[in-house]
Amino acid sequence: MKKPSGQGLKSLGNPQIIKPQKQLGQHWLRQKNVINKIINAGNLEKTDLVIEIGPGLGDLTKELAQKSGKVIAIEKDLNLVPDLKNNLQGFKNIEIVVGDALKTSFENFKDYKVIANLPYYAATHIIRRFLELANKPELMVLMVQKEVGQRICSQPPNMTLLAVSVQIYADAKIVDYVSKQAFWPKPKIDSAIIRLGPRNPELKFDKILFFKIVRAGFSQPRKQLINNLASGLGLPKSQIKDWLLKNKLRLDTRAESLSLENWLGLAKTFAS
Ligand code: SAH
Repeated sequence: MKKPSGQGLKSLGNPQIIKPQKQLGQHWLRQKNVINKIINAGNLEKTDLVIEIGPGLGDLTKELAQKSGKVIAIEKDLNLVPDLKNNLQGFKNIEIVVGDALKTSFENFKDYKVIANLPYYAATHIIRRFLELANKPELMVLMVQKEVGQRICSQPPNMTLLAVSVQIYADAKIVDYVSKQAFWPKPKIDSAIIRLGPRNPELKFDKILFFKIVRAGFSQPRKQLINNLASGLGLPKSQIKDWLLKNKLRLDTRAESLSLENWLGLAKTFAS
């Protein structure tokens, strides 16, 4: 057993003697000012239902419970649960669920927010699971790796496949960057808090066709879009050329230069 140490701990007092499991992404947020930034970005009200993924030792959970109506905290690591329960004693509006956020069904939640310091190995997968639900969260405020946050929030001319996949469902913004010093144990990389807000109105698109085109377009990001689309969709280049021209796109353009509207336009005019 290793005793926790490091400056990140001082602001919240020492957690119990616990051995964090690297493979579960256990880097707990230990700085009150960073927790406050997450809480503020969540615009919480006393009637809100919050889903937290990976409560860990419960420092964020406590603050969420104080500002919202109810918190459902889903933690995979059964070994943490006694300490977690102990730390959250007295809070009547916290429900701890031992489960795997990659498998738990979220179909039955209504009018809820997701606020979490995500386990990084599973972050993009968890984000996609929520965004693709019919009953999407009203808002997500998430701690992710800095580089993942930047990829999610990127804009042309640096668009990424991940950015298109998230922004088609949500308005994505970086709230702030967070130093690795804010966590115990200290991870190798810095983090970012991102806010995925609702798209009003929601965009209408044919999901299968849209992602087939976007995936083909990004298959080799350094290559020109025309070549990626021709090989990815198995169509002659002449046809792709007409298609790009119809969408007022340059023939030498690359996937990363296209806006979300460009991709929607391509999907709309496919085969027409
Ligand atoms: N939110 C906490 C801890 C973040 S670390 C804090 O701010 O202090 C990520 C947490 O997610 C860890 O507690 C880890 O055990 C948990 N976790 C890892 N994989 C998970 C999964 N698939 N489903 C739910 N929780 C998971």
